[in-house]
Amino acid sequence: AKYMGTNQFQLYNKEIHEKLMTMNELQADILTGLEKNEFFLVYQPLFYIQDERIAEIEALIRWKHPEKGLLYPDRFIELAEQAGTIINIDYWVLETACKQLKSWRDRNQKPVLLSINISAKSFETKSFVPDITSIINQYEVNPEYLQLEITERMVIKNVEESIQKLCQLRDMGIRVAIDDFGIGYSSLSYIVRLPIDSIKIDKSFVQNITSSKESKAIVTTIINLCKILRLNVIAEGIESKFELDYLKSNQCEIGQGYYFSKPVHIEEIERLLME
Ligand code: C2E
Ligand code: CA
Ligand code: CA
Ligand code: CA
Repeated sequence: AKYMGTNQFQLYNKEIHEKLMTMNELQADILTGLEKNEFFLVYQPLFYIQDERIAEIEALIRWKHPEKGLLYPDRFIELAEQAGTIINIDYWVLETACKQLKSWRDRNQKPVLLSINISAKSFETKSFVPDITSIINQYEVNPEYLQLEITERMVIKNVEESIQKLCQLRDMGIRVAIDDFGIGYSSLSYIVRLPIDSIKIDKSFVQNITSSKESKAIVTTIINLCKILRLNVIAEGIESKFELDYLKSNQCEIGQGYYFSKPVHIEEIERLLME
């Protein structure tokens, strides 16, 4: 720092200071927000592509911030990851999802697979598996209706430990999906070893099916890989009939996207499930 002019140094300092302030503020905001029930989940149904029945549901977080209004995950998830409060968020999501599954069971609603997103920080926690176990037991949830979405990158950081955790989760009956598949750094030799149930093809490939030969080839290759590995294959971000038709003719099983439905509030998803 001594090589910088004094002004520059102060500028640099101020920038870091402001960044830290925002981080601290956000961290405090998230913790109070969780306490005050400012967060809520919306639910996006996923459909079997062949007959357009609901296959499963993904829960996605939203934040009704008292000053900033409705916030989408892109406004706070990454910062929460840096600040560490993502762990609090993930546990809130897990607990809310379990409460929802319990409420459906209590009301004799036809069971449906509910999928939640887990961030790297939480997955890496030593107590991740026991923590999930205790929440599941607390709400007497049938683990078979809970799915965790993790990414390639999270698994690849520490393959052996990840495999061990995934095995424990799946022994309990919990399902595991690899989210955003195709954009990570993993090699196929890792993927074939992972004890998982499903692969979700990242929406960037699906959205380029129309314009890019490469994306078409990637999508087809992932679908074929899933068939060989006997994994469920899910296409994210389907927005058009063209994309749907391409996926259908390539035997992709499950689809998610605005073409079928946007994420909706709990009342709406319950209505859809009754149909
Ligand atoms: P994701 O897990 O890949 O979730 C899918 C995202 O794509 C959602 O955005 C969803 O609303 C959006 N989407 C669904 N269909 C379409 C479509 O047809 N076209 C387009 N363009 N987008 C579509 P959302 O809800 O804003 O979430 C963004 C990301 O934030 C998620 O990506 C996930 O990585 C993260 N996230 C969301 N909820 C949670 C959560 O509860 N916990 C954690 N840790 N992360 C979350
Ligand atoms: Ca996801
Ligand atoms: Ca995704
Ligand atoms: Ca994601």
